[in-house]
Amino acid sequence: MDICHKCGNPQIIIKRKQSGQMLCQECFIKSIQEKVLKDIRKQKLIKKGDKVLVALSGGKDSVMVLDILNSLRKRRIIDLVAVTINEGISGYRDEGVRIAAQNAEKTGVEHRIVSFQDYVGHTLDEIMATSGDRNACTYCGVFRRWILNQIAREENATKIATGHNLDDETQSILMNYLEGNIHNLTRIGACSDSGYEGFTPKIKPLREIPEKETALYTLARDLPVHLAGCPYAGDSFRAKIGTFIKQISQDHPTIMYSTLRGFDKIKPVLKKEFSQKGSMGVCRICGEPSTGEICKACSFRRLWDDE
Ligand SMILES: [Zn+2]
Ligand SMILES: [Zn+2]
Repeated sequence: MDICHKCGNPQIIIKRKQSGQMLCQECFIKSIQEKVLKDIRKQKLIKKGDKVLVALSGGKDSVMVLDILNSLRKRRIIDLVAVTINEGISGYRDEGVRIAAQNAEKTGVEHRIVSFQDYVGHTLDEIMATSGDRNACTYCGVFRRWILNQIAREENATKIATGHNLDDETQSILMNYLEGNIHNLTRIGACSDSGYEGFTPKIKPLREIPEKETALYTLARDLPVHLAGCPYAGDSFRAKIGTFIKQISQDHPTIMYSTLRGFDKIKPVLKKEFSQKGSMGVCRICGEPSTGEICKACSFRRLWDDE
């Protein structure tokens, strides 16, 4: 008979394919929380006294990050602030914002909602209606990072936590291998370089947790989550790689972990050989850190202002 490997409870909710381990609901929740907190310590993602900004979309991963980091806030080890960015995607984003607010309220964490409209001057829908070739994720990613970095400074946050899970990280590694983007590879990791002034370091507390388990965690903890996928995600290269990894994982359940472990081992060598530490200045338009005279976000914004 299947029983929980920790406590013997016959009501198991997960059988881990990669290890064969079976767990009941309570032991699963505990095992995940311990794993995430252990990884935070091991990778030195957070130190006592940090103020962590959680990028809270309302999706399962960011909701889980808030839930677990809140245990550190309640023990007065860190301070937290949650920030939700409304990109302006009709029929999709409003529900996510509502669920994000619900989660923030449940935890009692201060919550800010900001919009592309206010910061960029246009919603993502408006941007996509006028900008034929480029895919939405390019604009969205650049602007979100740009906005989060500004808010982190306003809030005196010392870290920005995102919900990237094991699947996301493995996808990034494979994508960049396959495309030969060695320079991008040097920037993948549990914590971004904090060497540049004006940039708040980004941390990924869920980097070791498979996507399947982040979904199960929010279910087991009964946390409200926004399940709909972004309508702009589409058939991107990332989505194709994601499907490919999922297929391979069926017969090779440890493949994501071995990809991650192998990458982490060669990363120091890659960094030594390939990282391009260009000189960092500030953008002449917005004052944010930038390698060029004008930052990426402002060069995009100028495209529309000229029209
Ligand atoms: Zn158990
Ligand atoms: Zn700028």
